[in-house]
Amino acid sequence: MAHNILEQSIKLDAATRAYYDTRRQEETNTLPSEVSLLQTRNNRIATLPTTGLGFPATVSHLEHAVIPGLNLASLSPHYYGFVTGGSTPIAAVADNVVSAFDNSVQVHLPNESIVTEIEDRALRMLCQLLDLEERDWAHRTFTTGATASNVMGLACGREGVVRWHGKATAGTTTSVAKMGLVRAMNAAGLDEIQVLTTVPHSSLGKAASIVGLGRDSVTLVNRSDRPHLIDFEKLEEELKRPGVGSIVAVSCSEVNTGFFAAGRGDMERLAGLCRRYKAWIHVDAAFGFMARILAPDTNGEFKSIIDGSDGLEHAHSITGDGHKLLNVPYDCGIFLSRKAEGMDVFQNAGAAYLQTDASDIPSPLNIGIENSRRFRALPMYANLIAYGRDGFRTFLQQQIRLARRTAHYIRQHPGYELLPDWHQDHIDQHTYMVVLFRAKDEVLNASLVKAINRRKKIYVSGTVWEGQPASRIAVSNWQADEERDANVIAEALEEVYQAWQNAEGS
Ligand SMILES: *Cc1c(COP(=O)(O)O)cnc(C)c1O
Repeated sequence: MAHNILEQSIKLDAATRAYYDTRRQEETNTLPSEVSLLQTRNNRIATLPTTGLGFPATVSHLEHAVIPGLNLASLSPHYYGFVTGGSTPIAAVADNVVSAFDNSVQVHLPNESIVTEIEDRALRMLCQLLDLEERDWAHRTFTTGATASNVMGLACGREGVVRWHGKATAGTTTSVAKMGLVRAMNAAGLDEIQVLTTVPHSSLGKAASIVGLGRDSVTLVNRSDRPHLIDFEKLEEELKRPGVGSIVAVSCSEVNTGFFAAGRGDMERLAGLCRRYKAWIHVDAAFGFMARILAPDTNGEFKSIIDGSDGLEHAHSITGDGHKLLNVPYDCGIFLSRKAEGMDVFQNAGAAYLQTDASDIPSPLNIGIENSRRFRALPMYANLIAYGRDGFRTFLQQQIRLARRTAHYIRQHPGYELLPDWHQDHIDQHTYMVVLFRAKDEVLNASLVKAINRRKKIYVSGTVWEGQPASRIAVSNWQADEERDANVIAEALEEVYQAWQNAEGS
């Protein structure tokens, strides 16, 4: 029977990929056609039916009014928007199993289900993959994504900072988790908590808002010549302000450029400063942490990338994404912390019916945001054992090499400009899996993202670079293939350029 369920799950995944192939042949690689979008939009049901449609009619509705309107972001290796990742076949199969059995992960009940033990193993394997000591990172859990992990990071940081300051000034435990932010800060002698960072992801401000620090608390301490790097003088000035507690949020690979804010030396220096000034170090490594799986090689192909994610062990907490480079389905994020202070924030105390055995596996409801939640560890577990360290390393190597080849192509193209405008040697050292560029012509550049995406061969994201519109290719799908995909990207960019030139000439 169990075999039958798995077979059905495998068939479902195979059917989805076959469906992608037909759509790809008919129309496009990346998005639904305008016609499909219009049809599904016209056919969707807008208000709650009084009498339900029932199973068969709803199935038919999903077939005609929903599925054709879905995008192919995860299924297509040519979708380079945001940092979407994809879903490997085994992760998708495991995810189907998760839905079929619908076990809630909430309390560690080893006599009732294996879910918490699998989750624990998946988190331990992630530590192994990232070369982080399992026992040092005892506060670890799966979240809905990097945004939720950043919320957890700032919540833990807030707790840690207020406690450390409280211990020094009041000599007592000042806990935000227990006393609330205002009373705990008063008791600790703090007027303000700030989040010091460089090139933060937008979700950091949101996280600051959610945990009561406010978006205005996010303060840049970047160097003026290279904005992604920390200006240590500025940083120390901020850290030493009296009556102010600090959380330092390190961008371990920035979403527009793939730049890393700190290498090993910087992380060591940061750790020393933060110890002195009682500051918490949170690293947003949503997709940067995967750089740790690259192996040093003799020709130094990945040297600077490896360095950018080195020193992660100096962090107090780390954000990672599962649904990006780890290629499990949405939604999955990772949170790791090596400080017990933060754990108290998530205690779901006083629910007598949720008692569990004393165990080395904590109940997930006491260490994360949710109480009931999906068994989202299973696709991760399946992915990690199916591909192993070597498999993920191969994915990432392909992604980086494809990005670098694309960067070279853009750099030598008469119509496009690589951002920042690097020497070619720099591309081979510093490009991670993100490529930022623009069209040299301002008029073309203003509509470049639209022009590329309208053709649906590849999909890119728009952003702003030094006040100008820019386009961004993020290679994050497990299917990335340097040879095949470099040509697809080049053709797509060339077509847009030619079409614009023809229009100019006519
Ligand atoms: C994607 C990303 C986030 C937000 O992640 P979600 O998974 O969308 O919540 C946060 N930080 C960084 C650096 C990211 O790349």
